[in-house]
Amino acid sequence: MSEANSKVIQGRTGPWEIVLGLEVHAQVASNAKLFSGAAVGAGAAPNAQVSLVDAAMPGMLPVINRHCVEQAIKTGLGLKAQINNWSRFDRKNYFYPDLPQGYQISQFKDPIVGEGEVIVERDDGSTFTVRIERLHLEQDAGKSLHDQDPNYTYVDLNRSGTALMEIVSKPDMRTSEEAAAYVKKLRTILIYLGTCDGDMEKGNLRADVNVSVCRPGAYEKFRETGDFSHLGTRCEIKNVNSYRYIQQAIEYEARRQIEIIEDGGKIDQETRLFDPTRNETRSMRSKEEAHDYRYFPDPDLLPLVLDPAWVKAIEATLPELPDAKKARLQTQYGLTAYDAGVLIIEQARADFYESAVKGRDAKLTANWVTNDLAARLTAGGIDIENSPIAPAAIAELVQLIEEGVISSKIAKDVFERMWAGEGGASEIVDKQGLKQVSDTGELEKIIDDLIAANPGQAAQVKEKPQAIGWFVGQIMKATGGKANPGVINQMLKAKLGA
Ligand code: ADP
Ligand code: MG
Repeated sequence: MSEANSKVIQGRTGPWEIVLGLEVHAQVASNAKLFSGAAVGAGAAPNAQVSLVDAAMPGMLPVINRHCVEQAIKTGLGLKAQINNWSRFDRKNYFYPDLPQGYQISQFKDPIVGEGEVIVERDDGSTFTVRIERLHLEQDAGKSLHDQDPNYTYVDLNRSGTALMEIVSKPDMRTSEEAAAYVKKLRTILIYLGTCDGDMEKGNLRADVNVSVCRPGAYEKFRETGDFSHLGTRCEIKNVNSYRYIQQAIEYEARRQIEIIEDGGKIDQETRLFDPTRNETRSMRSKEEAHDYRYFPDPDLLPLVLDPAWVKAIEATLPELPDAKKARLQTQYGLTAYDAGVLIIEQARADFYESAVKGRDAKLTANWVTNDLAARLTAGGIDIENSPIAPAAIAELVQLIEEGVISSKIAKDVFERMWAGEGGASEIVDKQGLKQVSDTGELEKIIDDLIAANPGQAAQVKEKPQAIGWFVGQIMKATGGKANPGVINQMLKAKLGA
């Protein structure tokens, strides 16, 4: 199992390292709430999706939503995690204006999902493993609205009771980049599974980031012994909902902690907020201990007992997951881990690739899908499912390159014209007269004229074979970039004796 890579931060008193553990809240993809039949979804008028249960009217009883349980099991299976056939819901008691029950129904001692793992890709294509500690189901709270009235705060309970999965990692990330990469991979897995839509802008996926710092060597001792006392005191930065903010918050927070310790102070375990406009974290409250919440089993709910046959049946519905797809793309098409990793980031991108690549050069097709097409789609804010250039059209373009009809340079131009809706690749090549000149007769005349006009350059090539490049450039110029470079190189070498 490959571990995270630490990075040393130089302080005044010596080197430091970062340790990171994440609690990711993922909204369960579901039409209804965790314990009520009220609808879930953005866009409704305030308090339009609130049942009596969500408003915590006295005497209302929660009823578990089978679909949400199924989604949690699916996610657990996707994280290669232990599924606990016996789990239980607890009340986590605290006061908040947007929490009418006065407690959140969550899972404390006995979560539905236990230990698992996520394999994470770094930007350079290398991977490391983050161990998952647990996944539990819980209710989301409502929302206080402070901007509706100068004197009053309003409350919108539409989100109240919505099902969340809290996915808790072990402290297995060591740099801000690794933390962002972990959330990225987790998000990809959830979207593949269809258990969370992964919309971070809407807050449907958000991370509490736990940060601590320690001296080199301490983390290794922690991994050997499992003893947390080798690590520094952590601070938890709440509800960070973009990769960039995750990274910025960690960088700021680590430096803040190092400065405090180096000034002789100590870190208070606390909950902090990240302020993106000032790029800093601020204290929100001192960290509560579990006993502050007076957790106890919710007397309104029976323990959740899963039929193993049901779990098996759910397992049978899992799609091919990102890691399996990546491995298959590598073996089936001979792609590098990097290319396969880029293709599987989105299921639809991998699907697009697989329908384009049929019979075509695998690497070349991957390049077009992940570079030129992806760049155009991103710039236009278009999902690949709605790409104006279809897989078959990319295949046609790749075929023209493979067969030497056009050079890769001309292909870029053809691609731009395809994007602009001028037609298919062959059609554009014909219409614009972009066919590569491989006709040796035509090229021979150009080369002969060129050699005759530049005897000095020609003589030079005999001593310095690299000088052939000048001729290649001239021929390209003369043919408007359409000469086949392979063919002219061969002809030039023969004629100039290089
Ligand atoms: P809580 O609900 O109190 O935040 P959890 O057990 O739910 O506690 O989550 C704790 C998170 O903090 C986990 O992701 C864990 O990996 C991480 N963590 C624990 N100790 C440290 C530490 N010293 N440095 C960084 N992260 C830590
Ligand atoms: Mg927690």
